[in-house]
Amino acid sequence: ALSDLRRTIDAMVNHVYLGRSGLKISDIVYGNWLTHGSQVDQDTASACVRAALDAGITTFDTADVYANGKAEKVLGKALRGERRESLEILTKVYFPTGRAGHNDSGLSRKHIMESIDASLKRLRTDYVDVYQAHRFDVETPIEETMQAFADVVRQGKALYIGVSEWTAEQLRFAHDHAKELGFQVISNQPQYSMLYRVIEGEVVPTSSELGISQIVFSPVAQGALTGKYLPGQQPPEGSRATDAKGGANMIKRWMDDDVLARVQELRPVARELDLTMAQLAVGWVLQNANVAAAIIGASRPEQVAENVKASGLTIPEDAMARIDEALGDA
Ligand code: NDP
Repeated sequence: ALSDLRRTIDAMVNHVYLGRSGLKISDIVYGNWLTHGSQVDQDTASACVRAALDAGITTFDTADVYANGKAEKVLGKALRGERRESLEILTKVYFPTGRAGHNDSGLSRKHIMESIDASLKRLRTDYVDVYQAHRFDVETPIEETMQAFADVVRQGKALYIGVSEWTAEQLRFAHDHAKELGFQVISNQPQYSMLYRVIEGEVVPTSSELGISQIVFSPVAQGALTGKYLPGQQPPEGSRATDAKGGANMIKRWMDDDVLARVQELRPVARELDLTMAQLAVGWVLQNANVAAAIIGASRPEQVAENVKASGLTIPEDAMARIDEALGDA
């Protein structure tokens, strides 16, 4: 099932080539949405980054919009002193960061050129490894966007270009325009988990054909797939579901008693494989041959140490079938 991904194995985590490029990233990526600059303080954020590095994670995902630029700043600080060549840093452009003036969002040349400089400054680095279009911009001509990305790459401010939550049709546009301009779109970053399988329909087959890898987000459905939320009970204190700064609102869609009850049915499957529920959920997304990496979030270092163990996991066919049965159309 791993046919269209080229993997290399090191001691702790697998490294995977992105798309048809020569860039390798860790198959577990640490991302800082809702946590850095918001739910947790700098010390906890730095401890999570430390736990990631210690476990062999080399790839970090953020976005300019996360906590209005603070998430990039916190990550930049946490990575200070690390050898830049050993890291892959990914960020994104599209949403307004702080001010929302008429040119402060989208994928215009103006917004891209201004945003990359602001991100580099906050991240304290001269370049990002992958610069990602956070969403598709229906207003700006794709030619303008792709030319701006080509120029960002030519200037050395980003080494590679990716996108996030683009449809199969949009990925094809991007691929074709990039090719004309002499670069590649190497990755797409969509939501994917046992509870949210939309990309399996069109995005994955089209991406496989075009040589675009998925770097998927919310693999444990923001915590819902860890089994810690029980139907009919109050969420544990300190969890995302109790985070009034934004997390609670984001995870709401999974805080449904029927969904949470079905998730509990995965407990014996995880136990028989000697995995935690979180590891089963992260390992599950990696079974898809077009998924290069899972971006895990964490509000504490122990979660990173636990979830990273899903790197390189193979889940047997019968367990995969039992998962489908338990979750069905949840
Ligand atoms: P996850 O599904 O991995 O959820 C992470 C959260 O679940 C943690 O912060 C923690 O929350 C809880 N959790 C994780 N592991 C455990 C565990 N072992 N035990 C108990 N609780 C656990 O991913 P996110 O939703 O955080 O997204 C991950 C990343 O993906 C983001 O940081 C970002 O980089 C990217 N992303 C990209 C988007 C895009 O549009 N491109 C959109 C969303 C995310 P807590 O402890 O607070 O309960």
